[in-house]
Amino acid sequence: MICIFLGAPGSGKGTQAKKVCASLHLTYIGTGEILRENVASGTELGKRVKSILEAGHLVDDDTMIEIIEERIKNEDSFLMDGFPRTVRQAEAIDGLFEKYGKKVDSVIFLDVDAPEVTKRILGRFSCPVCGKDFNVYTDDIKDRRCPADGARLLQRSDDTEETVRERIEEYARKTAPLKEFYEKRNILMNVPGTGSPGEIFERITEALDNKN
Ligand code: AMP
Repeated sequence: MICIFLGAPGSGKGTQAKKVCASLHLTYIGTGEILRENVASGTELGKRVKSILEAGHLVDDDTMIEIIEERIKNEDSFLMDGFPRTVRQAEAIDGLFEKYGKKVDSVIFLDVDAPEVTKRILGRFSCPVCGKDFNVYTDDIKDRRCPADGARLLQRSDDTEETVRERIEEYARKTAPLKEFYEKRNILMNVPGTGSPGEIFERITEALDNKN
């Protein structure tokens, strides 16, 4: 099975995508995570994209398409979180799937409005030790320490107020049109992204079950 997750930054895509991967045994391919790992380990790619991520802009399509081709070519069952993010990337993935004999089964669109995603992004933290994600609005982390190991929780460097505004604008300009792109093919499933993480996960699995 091949699945694509679409949604605004902060819509809960990453959290839900990882839960779906664990439950359906899909490989998680998150392009934001790949880029952040490259920045953290100081690779050539990381050095090139660091300031782009910090400004809340999108990395150029050619770079992203190259990354995704390497990552998907030997995978059969996977979920893409954060790719495609432009119509050009979506067209490129069509070409790559044709080249490698693959096809997209489902596209999940997590629907959350802009004020809510802004609030969520500014409230999110993660643990540098165990990697778990938290949100001040839904988790008990008043002292900003990980409940499991006591480590001081960190915010992503692109989760600042200014960058969030830019990322949401980039999303509206370049990524939101993908909804229509996949709607036309009848593979887009609109899932309301509000409620508890458990409720949203149930909606997603129900949508995927109905599709199969
Ligand atoms: P994310 O973790 O998905 O919110 O991605 C974090 C950042 O990585 C984005 O704000 C972009 O700067 C960059 N990024 C991730 N995926 C893509 C993509 N498919 N195209 C362009 N930039 C991307």
